[in-house]
Amino acid sequence: MKIVITPRGFANYGEKELDKLRSHGFQVSYNNTGQAYSPEKFLELSKDADGIIVGVDLIDQAFIDQCPQLKVICKFGVGTDNIDVAYAESKGIYVGRTIGSNSIAVAEHVMALIYSESKNIYETVREVKEGEWQKPTGRELYGKTIGIIGFGAIGKQLARQAQGVGMHVRIYDVYDVPVEELKQYDAEQLALETLLQESDYVSLHLPLTEKTKNLISTAELNRMKDNACLINTARGGIVDEEALSKALAGKVIRSACFDVFSSEPPKSEDPLLARENFYLTPHTGARTIESEARTCEISTDIVLSKLL
Ligand code: NAD
Repeated sequence: MKIVITPRGFANYGEKELDKLRSHGFQVSYNNTGQAYSPEKFLELSKDADGIIVGVDLIDQAFIDQCPQLKVICKFGVGTDNIDVAYAESKGIYVGRTIGSNSIAVAEHVMALIYSESKNIYETVREVKEGEWQKPTGRELYGKTIGIIGFGAIGKQLARQAQGVGMHVRIYDVYDVPVEELKQYDAEQLALETLLQESDYVSLHLPLTEKTKNLISTAELNRMKDNACLINTARGGIVDEEALSKALAGKVIRSACFDVFSSEPPKSEDPLLARENFYLTPHTGARTIESEARTCEISTDIVLSKLL
């Protein structure tokens, strides 16, 4: 049996995990090239695969139809928007994800983005290297309100971390969070409109779906405080980037910090990149040594559990 592993560039997918797969007799095709596979190369390798551990590569209906042996797809992470999950499942293919494997990493990343924005770290590093010595006044997080949209594994981890530094936690999710759970995080569940109006920081932690596409657009940005900061480490496309670019230019909100984009990497002419109050990281939210090790371990186990 054959397993294709596409996430690239990890120092070690985990020789231990690769050995584990091989010891069960699997032929393992692991992308250690440092480059993303082209769609053609990915398909060619996957045509006779029984399992795929996939990063961001596209697995759509046409791809699935050309992989007749496929029994399991495991997302190397949690966001399955690059996989046609419904179609895969209709063909009897199990689709798994490594739930919770990267929630600490992403939550810490959000806090890092928020701290850097609030303490002017993005600007001051650049300024000093360019020979300037400005000393802008920053903001404390203590006592500020963070609105968390999507209270799943990452949202909860972020709530714990934000609570730890003295922030007030407000959440919005489509399900009613049990009161006991809210108490645990000292959190309050609000309607989306209210959360947007009350929060100093708004952070997104929900999947990209037909329902969440452009969830944050002009009307939602207009509801936010004019000194609020919007953080998106979930998926590009949940925020209407054109509307955000206009809102940042018009100082409708103070700033935005993104780890994800509707097109990755963003095009150099993307107007968002030109906004001085727009900060970014290159989709590195989940990339910590610890998170990657956890994700390798869980994805290996998911694939083995479905193929052995
Ligand atoms: P999760 O499945 O544990 O939680 C998602 C939450 O979103 C759930 O509570 C769900 O009820 C809620 N939700 C779904 N639709 C909603 C809607 N329309 N409105 C409000 N809430 C809604 O997932 P998670 O592990 O917390 O991850 C969240 C997202 O973060 C993923 O879908 C993925 O896109 C993204 N992510 C990004 C990175 C990164 O590297 N930047 C890493 C991991 C995950």
